[in-house]
Amino acid sequence: MKTIIRPLIGVMLLASLSIPALAGASGYTETRYPIVLVHGLFGFDTAAGLDYWYRIPEELRRDGAQVFVTQVTAAEDTEVRGEQLARQVEDILATTGADMVNLIGHSHGGPTVRYVASVYPDMVASATSVGGVNWGARLADVLQGVVDNVPFSGDLVGYLGNALAGLIDLFSGGGNQQDILAALQALTTAETLAFNQQYPEGMPSQYCGQASRLGSNGVSYFSWSGAKPLTNAFDPSDVLLGATSIVFLGEKNDGLVASCSSHLGMVIRDDYRMNHLDEVNQVLGLHDIWSTDPVTLYRQQANRLKNYSF
Ligand code: CA
Repeated sequence: MKTIIRPLIGVMLLASLSIPALAGASGYTETRYPIVLVHGLFGFDTAAGLDYWYRIPEELRRDGAQVFVTQVTAAEDTEVRGEQLARQVEDILATTGADMVNLIGHSHGGPTVRYVASVYPDMVASATSVGGVNWGARLADVLQGVVDNVPFSGDLVGYLGNALAGLIDLFSGGGNQQDILAALQALTTAETLAFNQQYPEGMPSQYCGQASRLGSNGVSYFSWSGAKPLTNAFDPSDVLLGATSIVFLGEKNDGLVASCSSHLGMVIRDDYRMNHLDEVNQVLGLHDIWSTDPVTLYRQQANRLKNYSF
């Protein structure tokens, strides 16, 4: 897991200039401002040949979007990740000549894009959170030992830690549980609530509530998430997400994040038949065959962004 122990990535842009819209492209995803994708906890080495956003940038570009895939430090608190992202957004603006960007963050990427939208609203037209840890991750609480009503023991923490390390291994080929626990600290309910007080734009005023699309800073906020930990028997990550989902004690969740915790701005939907990794079309596009293709949601969101006049 080179990425997680890697020092600050800085301005490493994994996608360079977008591919111009091909002749015959419909323009369906042709947003006014570039789309910038921001990963979550599972930052991994792209040298492994596995794209975090499986097929998503390509499918967005196909109909006209400019798309950039950024990389920030995986195991770091949200402000540090946010500052890293802000530098990359500055580079994207300089490269493209665009005035603003449309940020889309998954998991810990949700709070990360919110940070940039809050501190640098002039650079951000919209911030979209997918399966975002906006109101804490119960798994982080359990691993931190701060949830009193979950009858966990050292064994359970080990079990959950192993499941999580398994997910990381799956993506990066060599987990480092120490780093995961450090990252999870930023995702506890207590830490996220303190973060929300400092960067409140777009957040509903109460757990599971709704906020208006347009934040007080002029940035548009959107969110969606899944609510089904087990979706495809052929996907090896399902058993791990099924294991981590036990901490929710029946609350609607995607295996790692409660649906209610994902709410930000306009909630497009919080109960797709998707788990936390289906939300980024993993692993390798294996998702619930009866559900919407995860890629379609990103294309629809690009079209939504295109149609709003920012
Ligand atoms: Ca899957």
